[in-house]
Amino acid sequence: MENKGILIVISGFSGAGKGTLVKELLRQYDEYALSVSMTTRAPRPGERDGVDYFFTTKEKFEDTIAAGGLLEYASYCGNYYGTPKAYVEEMLAAGKNVILEIEVQGGTQVRELFPESLLLFVTPPSAQELENRLRARGTETEDVILQRLARAAQEAPYMRDYEYIVINDDLQRCVSEIHRIADVARSKPDRKNKFIETIGEDLKQISKGAK
Ligand code: 5GP
Repeated sequence: MENKGILIVISGFSGAGKGTLVKELLRQYDEYALSVSMTTRAPRPGERDGVDYFFTTKEKFEDTIAAGGLLEYASYCGNYYGTPKAYVEEMLAAGKNVILEIEVQGGTQVRELFPESLLLFVTPPSAQELENRLRARGTETEDVILQRLARAAQEAPYMRDYEYIVINDDLQRCVSEIHRIADVARSKPDRKNKFIETIGEDLKQISKGAK
C-alpha cells in the first residue's frame, strides 16, 4: 500500500478565510499536517513565532534560500514567504497529507516540482465579500488593504491553474468539501504509483504457472 501522504497546496486571495479553514480541517481530522512558513513580514497582533510563521530577517531568509532549505518561496506585497523543506518531507514520509497555505507563485513552483500535488484555490463568493472580509479583519492599514485587493486582481487568472476552486461561503461545508476532495485525490493513479507497481508484480508472481 502507498503510505506516503500527499502534498496539498491551498492558495486563495488574502482575506478568503484560508487560515480559518485550514485550522478547522486540522482540528477535525488527524491525517493532515500544516507546514509553518518562514516570512520576513512583521507579526500581526496575536501571531506567534514558530506557530503562525517563523518570523525572520531578510538576511536570514536569503541565507536559507542559499542553503537550499526551502521547498519554494515567493515575494508577496514586499515580503518574502517560503516553505521550509525538512518538515514537509518528514510529514509526507510519516503518511500525513501536508498542507501548504501559499500564494500563487509558490503554488506554480510546487506544481512543477511535484506534479502529483493537489492544488486547491479558496475564494469568497464575490469580490465585494472579499473587500468586506479584509476590512472586517481590522489588522491592516487602508494602504495594505488596497495593495492586497490589487494583488487579488492579479491572482484571479491563476485560478485556472488549480485543480479545484473552493468557494468559502460556509466554514463547515468548505472543510468537508476539502476533506472529500483530498480523500478522492489520494486514489488517483498518479498518486498510487507504488501500489500499481506492487500489485502488478505480485500478480505476475502469483499467476506464474497458471494457464
Ligand atoms: P499573510 O501575510 O496574509 O499571512 O500571507 C500573505 C500571502 O502569503 C498569503 O496568500 C499566504 O498564503 C502566502 N504565504 C504564506 N506562506 C507562504 C509560503 O511559505 N510561500 C508562499 N509562496 N506563500 C506563502
